[in-house]
Amino acid sequence: MDGTGFLQREHFGELIRILAGRGYRVIGPQLRDGAIVYDDLSEVAQLPSGVIMDVQPARVHATVTQLPRYFSWANGPQALKPLLFRPVETLWQACRDDKGRLEFSAADEQEARPLAVIGVRACDLAALELQDRHFLQGEYSDPHYARRREGLLLVAVNCTHPDATCFCASTGDGPQARTGFDLVLDELDTGFIIGAGSKRGTALMEDLSLLPVREDQLAKAAVSHQAAREAQTRALPPGDLYDALAARREHPHWQAVAERCLSCGNCTSVCPTCFCSHEREQPRLDGSGSVHLREWDSCFSEGHSYITGLVIRAEPRHRYRQWLTHKLGAWHRQYGRSGCVGCGRCIAWCPVGIDLCEETAAVLGGGHD
Ligand code: SF4
Ligand code: SF4
Repeated sequence: MDGTGFLQREHFGELIRILAGRGYRVIGPQLRDGAIVYDDLSEVAQLPSGVIMDVQPARVHATVTQLPRYFSWANGPQALKPLLFRPVETLWQACRDDKGRLEFSAADEQEARPLAVIGVRACDLAALELQDRHFLQGEYSDPHYARRREGLLLVAVNCTHPDATCFCASTGDGPQARTGFDLVLDELDTGFIIGAGSKRGTALMEDLSLLPVREDQLAKAAVSHQAAREAQTRALPPGDLYDALAARREHPHWQAVAERCLSCGNCTSVCPTCFCSHEREQPRLDGSGSVHLREWDSCFSEGHSYITGLVIRAEPRHRYRQWLTHKLGAWHRQYGRSGCVGCGRCIAWCPVGIDLCEETAAVLGGGHD
């Protein structure tokens, strides 16, 4: 990091105002309908002050306490993914001209302002790096994602209260943010230790009312880092699990999961690394043209495995097996690492509490080669 400073709690609003003043659309966490969501943020009062989350498989409960903290929770159902890879977006459109000919044009949606996101977690940064690899660094770059990604400014927060579903320590992605941010915060009761991770971050720090960081504040942050790591009770086995999972293709536990799985796709929707999509035409009712849409898709939808007259993953056990084997195995060959960053969202938001860590352990049994 390029340097640190201490921002007193009563000055936190400066960060929001400075970002907005520099032309950013500021996004930050807020409590809504009992969950943490990321949405437009214009003042500190919108932050989830004192909110503590109890997150278990298939259960999320928020309690508002007097704790003088804005970030004493781990994550909500979404963070960065829908901001860059939209759940639904127009890729191109066709219009009929007055002679009846079709004219095709690119979607002309322009982002009015670059995004600045406050409150991003280490797992979200790791997931963003994976989404970048998929959308930007392959043979083709996705221009829609690239346009939004270009100006993105990230203010990370180190986790102090991991959820019971979190296991980022075992995947090596958290709970402390180490790279990929512009600013990183350690929240203490009286304020924030702020560090810069980029030139933009350093420039922002110059405009904040910062005090020097004291040794006792650094010591408190270090204790929090260690406690957040030790609080995690779930874990995934390290390394490429492709061979171990493929060798257990016919393991009875795939069917045991399938008997509970609703094929709803919640797990893939909330997963910050999942990137599957389908495309479809949406015609205008008056016949004057159509828009070509890209929408999030899921391993769990039957149509996602349709190939020339055949659904190749017809049963839920095939779809769950595909998801897990791709995520924990084939990603290593495609992207050089696992597709799981340990955020635990798929466990929390699965309506029947299917647990990636437990199901993986059950399939692998006593161990793997
Ligand atoms: S597989 Fe589950 S725990 Fe892993 S990154 Fe996706 S949502 Fe998070
Ligand atoms: S594992 Fe859970 S969240 Fe995923 S499709 Fe099945 S029921 Fe839905």
